[in-house]
Amino acid sequence: MTTTIRPQPGILEIALYQGGASHIEGQADPLKLSSNENPLGCSPKAVEAVTAAALKMHRYPSTDHDTLRQAIAAVHALPKDQIVCGVGSDEILTLLAMAFAGPGDEVLYPEHGFSMYRIFALSAGATPVVAPEATRKVSVDALIDRISPATRLIYMANPANPTGTALDLAEVARLADAVPETCLLVLDGAYAEFFDGYDGGASLVASRPNVVMTRTFSKLYGLGGLRVGWAYAAQDVIDVLNRIRGPFNLSELALAGAEAAVRDRAFVETCLTLNAEQRARLTGGLRQLGIACDDSHANFVLARFTDENEALAADKHLKAAGILVRLVKGYGFPEALRITVGEGEDVTRVLDAFASFKGST
Ligand SMILES: *Cc1c(COP(=O)(O)O)cnc(C)c1O
Repeated sequence: MTTTIRPQPGILEIALYQGGASHIEGQADPLKLSSNENPLGCSPKAVEAVTAAALKMHRYPSTDHDTLRQAIAAVHALPKDQIVCGVGSDEILTLLAMAFAGPGDEVLYPEHGFSMYRIFALSAGATPVVAPEATRKVSVDALIDRISPATRLIYMANPANPTGTALDLAEVARLADAVPETCLLVLDGAYAEFFDGYDGGASLVASRPNVVMTRTFSKLYGLGGLRVGWAYAAQDVIDVLNRIRGPFNLSELALAGAEAAVRDRAFVETCLTLNAEQRARLTGGLRQLGIACDDSHANFVLARFTDENEALAADKHLKAAGILVRLVKGYGFPEALRITVGEGEDVTRVLDAFASFKGST
């Protein structure tokens, strides 16, 4: 049976998002380092809060997310009314495109940017535009160069995924200064906490009406399965997002878990310290084995091989050792593997597997 119903233009151009792999054939419990999850899991206080909230599942959740926004505002010293919460930062990123871009408009992002940016642009019927990167680092000049009168939205993750490289705040400010008032600059801060001294661009939001900062509970807080993210932006932008988001987009479980997580600063410190230590070990260990990688400011490292064949062989070798990492051909790096920073013993396992790979080739 055929149907004459057609979706909006652009939607059939979307290829399904490929998440990080989570299974290896014949391996019961693989070491999953493919989705930048927190190796320590989440705060025990978040588990407690979610468990308690489960007893109230017959009630509709809060529509204004007031207590979660209050906690976020207190921890980050931001005005509560300029914060909106979403089902992961993904929801906010996609609502921004829906609200501010449409057919005939352009949505700009860097060449190796998060693969969802293209999907957000096409979902809104807008035209995706890609700015080249030089050496695995976002180029502010290239982005500025691609801004046209039709550009409505610029997405940029800082630190970037999958490179792990980051621009300092002055560089991001230089981009913000060049963005016309008719365009929103969306600073995707999924990994902002891992970049020492960086505020995710919050200070740029405070001083500009057209800069948006998004953050997530999925990475540092280890709550990817709970689906909570948030954004900080000018009041006008927040008001628009509140009009189009679902009134009950976040469950009470999600709200309670995220609030407990953001308030548990001791757990956050433990995670950040572990990540910094093990990221340095992983980076140093890879380089010692002759595997190139840039300094990462996130919770993963991009390991580069001579070519796609070697990267695929290395991936196969890791899989045989029960380790899952991320192939990033879809991000323009067929020769690389993205490896989430794990606990000490995880990093040891990864380095041992690469050592035996290097020894066997
Ligand atoms: C993981 C990630 C996100 C968002 O994840 P959510 O789970 O939807 O909050 C956003 N941007 C980048 C670059 C990411 O890597």
